[in-house]
Amino acid sequence: MPPQCLLTGEPVGNHGDLSANVWQQLHFIAAPMCSACGLPWEAQVAGQDLCAACIAGEEHPGAIVFDKGLDHVRCALRYDDLSAQLALRLKYADRLDMAGGLSRLIVQAGRDVLTDGALVVPVPLHRTRLISRRYNQAGVLASAISKACGLDLCLDLLHRQRATPRQQGLSAKGRERNVRGAFRVTPRHRDLVKGAHVVLIDDVLTTGSTLKACARVLKRAGAERVDALVLARVVPEGIGAI
Ligand SMILES: [Zn+2]
Repeated sequence: MPPQCLLTGEPVGNHGDLSANVWQQLHFIAAPMCSACGLPWEAQVAGQDLCAACIAGEEHPGAIVFDKGLDHVRCALRYDDLSAQLALRLKYADRLDMAGGLSRLIVQAGRDVLTDGALVVPVPLHRTRLISRRYNQAGVLASAISKACGLDLCLDLLHRQRATPRQQGLSAKGRERNVRGAFRVTPRHRDLVKGAHVVLIDDVLTTGSTLKACARVLKRAGAERVDALVLARVVPEGIGAI
């Protein structure tokens, strides 16, 4: 089969590529941005490298990054109709062939967190959901990213011990409650976490509650640094509009 665009099927140069047409319509997240949580800004202000939520820390309702949680977040794309299609096809349409191309976008966005010695870890699915869906889309991306960067991978470092209802339609607070206590470090991997720099991989970041819950568990288990790297992120209206 000649290489085709992951979304439109148009002919492209290499397997896993997106057509120039799709590429132009995607909204890539790039500098200027908050150096901690990666929220894009409209313009760089001299001397300012953190957003209000990151400066305020854990008490701020919008904070994703704080001492006992995530250290840095990086995302490839803004979540919109087009990037949603990429994420949905990977998740539900058995399009595992998309993992290579999408992971290239994620690696590009995450160069400063995918550093030597980092351990690549996907956000886990609960067993029942894994059975119905047959694969974890975050695991598929994490495998491709670790391979591309030559970094260690641990697919089951985290375990989802509770099947949580879907997050869709829940408020930020509701999402936090929903995932509280849902994750734990797999007991046989406890030693791997101590002093580690973990890079969590997921497909979509909405409020960050799932990633925050994972990061808390990892920090409590002794991780030195926990970053998150995501394909697409919901950016509130008016922030960093391109
Ligand atoms: Zn920030």
